[in-house]
Amino acid sequence: MEKQTASFETITGNIIGNEGCVRCGACVGLCPYLTLYNGTIVFPDKCDLPEGRCFGFCPKAPTDFDEISRELWHAPYTGSPLGTYSDILIAKRVKIPASATPQYGGIVTALVEQALLSGPYKAALVTQWKERSFPGGVVIETPEDALKSAGSHYAGAYSLAAFNQYRQRHAVPMAVVGLPCQTLAVRKMARLNHPRNPHTGSDNLVIGLFCTWALSPRLFSHKLSEWFGAEKPGRFDIPPPPANRFEAFLKSGKKEIPLDEIRPLLNPGCRTCLDMTSEFADISVGAVEGMPQWNTVIIRTEKGRTLFQRLSDSGMIETGDLPSESLSHLAFAAGQKKKRALAAAGEEPRENSAAILSEQARKTILQNEETGDNPL
Ligand SMILES: Cc1cc2nc3c(=O)[nH]c(=O)nc-3n(C[C@H](O)[C@H](O)[C@H](O)COP(=O)(O)OP(=O)(O)OC[C@H]3O[C@@H](n4cnc5c(N)ncnc54)[C@H](O)[C@@H]3O)c2cc1C
Ligand code: SF4
Ligand code: SF4
Repeated sequence: MEKQTASFETITGNIIGNEGCVRCGACVGLCPYLTLYNGTIVFPDKCDLPEGRCFGFCPKAPTDFDEISRELWHAPYTGSPLGTYSDILIAKRVKIPASATPQYGGIVTALVEQALLSGPYKAALVTQWKERSFPGGVVIETPEDALKSAGSHYAGAYSLAAFNQYRQRHAVPMAVVGLPCQTLAVRKMARLNHPRNPHTGSDNLVIGLFCTWALSPRLFSHKLSEWFGAEKPGRFDIPPPPANRFEAFLKSGKKEIPLDEIRPLLNPGCRTCLDMTSEFADISVGAVEGMPQWNTVIIRTEKGRTLFQRLSDSGMIETGDLPSESLSHLAFAAGQKKKRALAAAGEEPRENSAAILSEQARKTILQNEETGDNPL
């Protein structure tokens, strides 16, 4: 089990202070010293404990990828574009309920519903557009509530703050939906050796999303008011290149924003993120190029396989093969993200380069070519 001894000062100075924070929320909801206000983390007072859970959980604090990979797959982290997996396929929900607007095939929401129906998961962390202007984490306990969280909100949402708060009151197995940085944080949370860690040894099912970047919630929220006034978009999308636009779906119809207007709103900390497909999740879900009604699904662990099998047996979804061209493009995009992240990490302070990688993994990343991928 990992033990982290750096604390508050390191997280507020080196990570948040250096614009390394990617708004995952893992350090929030634990204590009065780090709290959320108006789309950002504020620190009203100074904590002088020598060992912080905040630092131990943070995905932007140094993290040994080999250790986490060995724990999950008994094998070191290889640096291959899509991480370790046993199966990759496409899937979509057969029938979309009238009350829901899923992002693509609705597989994430269906997985959450199935996890709560078939157990052993008693609650699930999802992200919803909350009151006022920001998306945020919400813990749900019934399958019916999962439908309310369908759709992607492209801002970092600090969702893990709600996970921390819930776990301090309920020591139950949970399903957690998160971005790649959040799935990494959830693995760190379960293994951190700290006397006040509510997640120690917890039994989570981790459903990871694909992610290339996320927006700063504060900047995004200001822009949304500027663009759309009080009207709140239901979901957002970024069509594949060469579209070069960001789409917002409002009651009054679809609005398009040039990507050049979106780029200044990105979280700077995303530049050093190596992971596009939630490599440390039990099961990962993303888009399928050119097939907007479908999801790409990557099954990574036995837990992920069991849940997906149950969902498949329920008749709620249909599945198919991922076209080989789509697999190559996905692996290429994921490999390029890793290369960009390594280059960006070289330009930044060490504390913002979270990944501790073996020389072999580093080499694999740098040598990755368009078709290179290493499934299990
Ligand atoms: C910031 C961001 C960047 C993304 N980038 C890519 C990408 O580059 N390539 C790609 O293929 N897919 C990307 N996605 C994922 C994609 O948009 C879909 O979430 C995914 O394919 C699941 O589709 P679905 O139809 O199953 O989703 P649904 O069934 O509609 O479920 C969506 C789920 O996303 C969760 N969610 C929504 N917003 C957030 C958020 N801000 N943080 C954490 N969880 C959230 C909700 O809790 C819900 O459970 C991104 C998503 C986000 C939020
Ligand atoms: S990346 Fe996550 S854990 Fe780290 S400082 Fe930001 S919100 Fe906290
Ligand atoms: S790019 Fe990486 S760090 Fe940024 S939101 Fe996505 S997963 Fe998190």
